[in-house]
Amino acid sequence: MAKSKPKLAVWKFASCDGCQLSILDLEDELLALTGEVEIAQFLEATRAVSEGPYDLSLVEGSITTAHDAERIKMVRQQSKMLVTIGACATSGGIQALRNFRDINDFVAAVYARPDYIDTLATSTPIAEHVAVDFELRGCPVNKHQLLEVVTAFLFGRKPMVAGHSVCME
Ligand code: SF4
Repeated sequence: MAKSKPKLAVWKFASCDGCQLSILDLEDELLALTGEVEIAQFLEATRAVSEGPYDLSLVEGSITTAHDAERIKMVRQQSKMLVTIGACATSGGIQALRNFRDINDFVAAVYARPDYIDTLATSTPIAEHVAVDFELRGCPVNKHQLLEVVTAFLFGRKPMVAGHSVCME
């Protein structure tokens, strides 16, 4: 019987999608990677979804809603390894500017119907909500570093990316 491939999932939270585009920007490498792994969840690229658990989850974006604060717990439960990618996921991103002002002022200035908006007062990094195995920084992330991290985690070694947090032992 053929050995099953490791399952990779990509998740979006509050973000601009630029880090997910870095994955798609891998082009040739991505084709080789898809030969080695099953892309089980990556809505930016495909509507095909495979149920967890997942061997590796890449998480883009920060937590800005109560719904997302619950959703990231589900992602963590379903993921053997969880790597956050980009400034939004690792530090809250540009949307964390709200952390220094009253969020209601922004909502009232931007939306015609502020009463329709249900958001948290802060934008927080993923690591403030769940355990994270590795943080890959950048805005967007560097695609070569991203490939190194994905390859390392899927094949059980530490990523060789200088200056980033490794929580795996
Ligand atoms: Fe976009 Fe930068 Fe956030 Fe990545 S880190 S999702 S490029 S804003």
